[in-house]
Amino acid sequence: MTIQPSILQPTLQQRIGSILNSIQSQQVVQEVTLVGVSKTQPASSIEEAFNAGVSHFGENYLQEALAKQSMLTHLPIIWHFIGPIQSNKTQQIAQHFDWVDSVDREKIAQRLSEARVLHGKSPLSVCIQVNISHEESKSGVDEEELENLAQFISQCKGLILRGLMAIPDPSLNTDALRVQFKKMKYWFDQLQRKYSSLDTLSMGMSHDYLLAIQEGATQVRIGTGIFGVREILK
Ligand SMILES: *Cc1c(COP(=O)(O)O)cnc(C)c1O
Repeated sequence: MTIQPSILQPTLQQRIGSILNSIQSQQVVQEVTLVGVSKTQPASSIEEAFNAGVSHFGENYLQEALAKQSMLTHLPIIWHFIGPIQSNKTQQIAQHFDWVDSVDREKIAQRLSEARVLHGKSPLSVCIQVNISHEESKSGVDEEELENLAQFISQCKGLILRGLMAIPDPSLNTDALRVQFKKMKYWFDQLQRKYSSLDTLSMGMSHDYLLAIQEGATQVRIGTGIFGVREILK
């Protein structure tokens, strides 16, 4: 008898199960939240992941996210916006997301805050995206600008500053990555002394989330590891 290749492929539920197990088996003090990164994935896969125990989802593109959200209103999903933000999209982002993890400038923070107040919603949870690898192409603030932006956000009525987010340079080796994660943890601890609302250090993706957790991540963002390789490369 020949075994069908499909039998050897783990199901989405099995992949989530093993990710959750591996997170739990880390000997760390902090609680870790798994955010399923669902860009390019259909609403049906999000529903399947939700039923397997993931309740936070991250989306990078507004129009794509809105279409899927409208199909999933029956589920109590916590939506994170994790992509680059154009200022003409801030109204809708503030209205349709629970978190924005990729805030990197005052103008965007101000507009998100105003929209949130205008719509009479509770303050939006935000993270500041830090350009920890100093890549030219990456969004995020440099470390020197971090304190100013944190100060600005802490005074925005429609926002609550929850933490920091980073996407390190994917070409780094393990030792270099660990250094970046340690730097993020350092800045997180510094800011947490000043702003008691900080409770989230979002770092770690499919290939480095265990390392990130060992270095203090409280939130990991996993796409490929849950849903498989994206067919559309975004
Ligand atoms: C796509 C994406 C991820 C997930 O990446 P994977 O390698 O597929 O886990 C995490 N964070 C952000 C900001 C992303 O854009």
